[in-house]
Amino acid sequence: MVSILLSWYSTTARVFFWRRPNIDPWVVLVSEVMLQQTQASRVEQRLPEFLDVFPTPQAMAEASAGTVLKMWSGMGYNRRALRLQETAVAITERFAGRVPGEVDQLKSLPGIGPYTSAAVACFAFGRRVVVLDVNVRRVYTRISRRCTTTVDVDDDTTLTAYAESIIPHDSPSQWHHAVMDLGATICTARSPQCPLCPLQDFCPSAHVLQQASRPKKQEPSWRGQPRRIWRGRIVEFLRSSSQEASVHNITTRLFGSDTTSEDADFVQSLLTSLATEGMIVRKGQTAQLVD
Ligand code: SF4
Repeated sequence: MVSILLSWYSTTARVFFWRRPNIDPWVVLVSEVMLQQTQASRVEQRLPEFLDVFPTPQAMAEASAGTVLKMWSGMGYNRRALRLQETAVAITERFAGRVPGEVDQLKSLPGIGPYTSAAVACFAFGRRVVVLDVNVRRVYTRISRRCTTTVDVDDDTTLTAYAESIIPHDSPSQWHHAVMDLGATICTARSPQCPLCPLQDFCPSAHVLQQASRPKKQEPSWRGQPRRIWRGRIVEFLRSSSQEASVHNITTRLFGSDTTSEDADFVQSLLTSLATEGMIVRKGQTAQLVD
């Protein structure tokens, strides 16, 4: 199974900036943080410009939070930008500006969780560690046992034990990229394309998966749109404003002439949380992006 999947990957690999040979670990770390909640095509587009401004952890550590947030424009989930800067500061202070290569060291950095630490150790340093993202979890579950529905996914303890048994010793990075690509293009969540799959002769779940769906998680929302979207719009508006903006202007910008007092209260609550998180500065009835 391993050699077949690696052979398939050698001819079909998706080409991304962060998959280049001998890639700088800082590039891998930044791309993994971006990829957590942003589409790969968008990250591919924005990453080079971002790295021009922040080519090293030290360059990001020395920048203002406002500059980091401005460069994060269009990526969404702006909190990640500030967390990444905290990571850059910690790398600069504790690791002399070099991204560490061990999972435990990476995990000790602010904002770096189990997935990102494993991904950086594997993709930047070639460590044979278990990397579990949503695609890998799905593929491992399906190829390790006979599943019955498209939503079957095993727990991480089970998947980690399986992964330990199958990750090749000589090419852990290519292996994980191959599994991720299979999950993204063929063994997809809703419509696995078993007749096109290189593993169909070995996979216990081949051709038997029944379509199923999980109940959707409810996000806090306002006027039918997730709260995070409204937060993002405020940050985007303040990014484009050269000066501070009044709360009235922000509210009108979001809701137009249709604004209600409930809308105004909602905007106030968003501004309060953005200020608490250090993304904006509030002065009376005005707000601006952090410097
Ligand atoms: S055979 Fe089907 S279920 Fe198995 S890995 Fe391939 S696409 Fe997924």
